[in-house]
Amino acid sequence: MTTTVSVTTATSTIYRPSTGEAYDAVPVTSLGELDEVFARARAGFEAWKKVSGTEKAKLLFKLADRLEELVEEFARIEARNTGKAIRETRAEAIRMPGTVRYWAGWADKLLGTSIPVGPDFHTYTVREPYGVVAGIVPWNVPYAFATRRVAPVIAMGNVVVLKPAEETPLTALKLAEVCREVGIPDGVVQVVTGAGDVGAAMVSHPQTDLVLFTGFHETGKIIARAAADNLTPTIQELGGKSPNIVFEDADIEEALDAAMVSVFSSTGQMCFAGSRLLVQESIHDDFVARLADRVKALKVGDPEEEDTKVGPHVTARQRDKTLQMIQAGIDEGAVVAAQSELPGGELAGGFFAPPTIFTNVTPDMTIVQEEIFGPVMSVFKFKDEAEALQIANDTKFGLAAGVWTSDLSRAHRMAQGIHAGRIWVNTYRVINDMVPGGGYGQSGYGAEGGTETLNALTRSKSVQIALNPGLIPGQPRI
Ligand code: ADP
Repeated sequence: MTTTVSVTTATSTIYRPSTGEAYDAVPVTSLGELDEVFARARAGFEAWKKVSGTEKAKLLFKLADRLEELVEEFARIEARNTGKAIRETRAEAIRMPGTVRYWAGWADKLLGTSIPVGPDFHTYTVREPYGVVAGIVPWNVPYAFATRRVAPVIAMGNVVVLKPAEETPLTALKLAEVCREVGIPDGVVQVVTGAGDVGAAMVSHPQTDLVLFTGFHETGKIIARAAADNLTPTIQELGGKSPNIVFEDADIEEALDAAMVSVFSSTGQMCFAGSRLLVQESIHDDFVARLADRVKALKVGDPEEEDTKVGPHVTARQRDKTLQMIQAGIDEGAVVAAQSELPGGELAGGFFAPPTIFTNVTPDMTIVQEEIFGPVMSVFKFKDEAEALQIANDTKFGLAAGVWTSDLSRAHRMAQGIHAGRIWVNTYRVINDMVPGGGYGQSGYGAEGGTETLNALTRSKSVQIALNPGLIPGQPRI
């Protein structure tokens, strides 16, 4: 006699954003499985502790070499799953081996200090990993986020349980497979799948020692509150409403290029999007007219075609949010200066919304205050530095800012005055692993990048050794 056991396994459907069709499904990690994952992580951490920094680096360098061989595969998986233009996903995939190598380089360079407290003591500090790190990442740059959650975390001696967004798990799952293939031991890198409930269970899990969250600022608040129950520390990389400020003395051609990239690449689905463009009044009308021409000519289309500049949104939900925001802009009195054409035919069911430039915006408008995470730019006109700063700092966020000027002193004055964790002068959205930056205001807390990461992902332990054993002179005996 045969017995049939019917098992219902929940799955996440994977859509192709350019057509709206479902093309894959990924099993969702159940809460029972999550306990097993964390048990493996704890055991993995105990073993990883015993691996020298040099050995850890060796494994990470091996991972980087393999990722280099797989650039095109990662780029294609990502473009299909996220709908981002292949030119962008390829550029990201090309950068990832370098990211892994940068962090590999730190694995055997985590130094402590020796502290001269006086002749009676030998006092030193060591940096120790937290242990099991829960990494929760969003759907906009899934491969880069996964790599940036795996490489530094394990280089510092932690292990990671990573959860990509339910809509875009494919490159993170592939990365975990490559980690196994190159010999990174069991339990050191694990990827779980599912939606916010799985993320919430990770945050509250008693085995979680540190939570790294990247995503929407309101979700960040929920996570911070949940983590507080176990006093689990969190690092939050949240959204932004970044100003990109162009003065009349700027290199206008470069500023135009950057303004386009700052808000239309990744279909605007970037925390660093330069979604508020501030242009000095003497050049404003001409600058906007040239931007408008470029927006009208943008090729919005199939992300897997090489000449596509802007793809669809990752999800229908995100596309709807962008459309609602565009409507809110119109309803509140902003003027649509330009919109791109959307593709039809077999892409008619894709998650597209038109790249849009708004002028005549005022500081209180929804499109100016709320993060859209779509290809929508609001353009302000300003008179002088003081007004530019006033507009730039007039949101609850503080993630990044761009300043375009050929006046060195002005660049420094603006950098000093802007309330944000990253300032770019005469460039935009340059992200290097070695450069720190964190959010101000509702853009988050806990800077990462370069040596900030060493401190963020490890903690300091001090050891005081008395050279003459006993309590210190003057300490009252009991
Ligand atoms: P969005 O709302 O735009 O999808 P989120 O910031 O909510 O962006 O999602 C980013 C990541 O956070 C995703 O991996 C998502 O599954 C996860 N997430 C959502 N809600 C929670 C939560 N309450 N606790 C932990 N993770 C969550």
